[in-house]
Amino acid sequence: MRKYVIMGVQGSGKGTQSKMLAEDLDLVHIGVGDIFRWNVQNHTKLGAQVRRTMAEGELVGDDLVEAVVRDRLTQHDWNYGFIIDGFPRSRRQAEFFLESYDIDAVIVLDLPDSEVRRRVLSRRLCADCGMDYNLIDSTPKEAGKCDMCGGELVTREDDTEEALEVRLRQWHEQAEAVLEIFRRKEYVFVVDARPAPEIIQQRIRQSLGLPPYRPRIEDSSGANGLPASQASTASRPGTASRPGTESQAPAGSQTASA
Ligand code: AMP
Repeated sequence: MRKYVIMGVQGSGKGTQSKMLAEDLDLVHIGVGDIFRWNVQNHTKLGAQVRRTMAEGELVGDDLVEAVVRDRLTQHDWNYGFIIDGFPRSRRQAEFFLESYDIDAVIVLDLPDSEVRRRVLSRRLCADCGMDYNLIDSTPKEAGKCDMCGGELVTREDDTEEALEVRLRQWHEQAEAVLEIFRRKEYVFVVDARPAPEIIQQRIRQSLGLPPYRPRIEDSSGANGLPASQASTASRPGTASRPGTESQAPAGSQTASA
């Protein structure tokens, strides 16, 4: 059983790295931001509660976040462990978390603010299936259209310059407070988030003493039901990564409306 936390500023690749780590280790990837986004997109009560906060780049209140995380983790579908992304983001959340769970490691993806701005402002999301694109180095084949489903590519509501500045400020303030708590237990290691996703993943695995990353090769029908030729592109990390939660409810997302 492995339990990891992954932290990093917006655009640092938390989702991509979490998915690569979860893939062959059979970990459940829990993206707290993904759970909130799903609720916003699907107009749930929880979505209505968090929409404006998210769009402004502010943090959702600790009570609500803790309720969502508690609800998700008490589903106990993580037989081999989990990797939680986007949580904790405050001292209180960290303390709440450590009261209930022993963590094996905290992975911190480190990215300079200038690179964060460059990445985030060029990020696009498929309005239909949720696939992530980056207009700098993972452009869709047809401008404005999702390679996977043909859906329209849109900008995430919180990927604006104003919201980004708020989030960068928050990251610098809150991350230190959270890391101070984790450092007491000597869990933390920091990884440079600038290299290619595969290189970052190998470094993470080396630090965690895990076997090297080997992308899962699907059967002849290909990943996600695609032909193998398309599947290899679709699953290329950092090219177009799908949080895995957008088109269907992340488990527990609908009930977590405390
Ligand atoms: P992310 O996908 O991790 O960038 O999160 C998107 C947004 O969801 C954040 O800007 C916050 O508004 C909200 N959010 C996600 N995780 C947390 C958290 N642990 N605490 C507070 N707000 C959060």
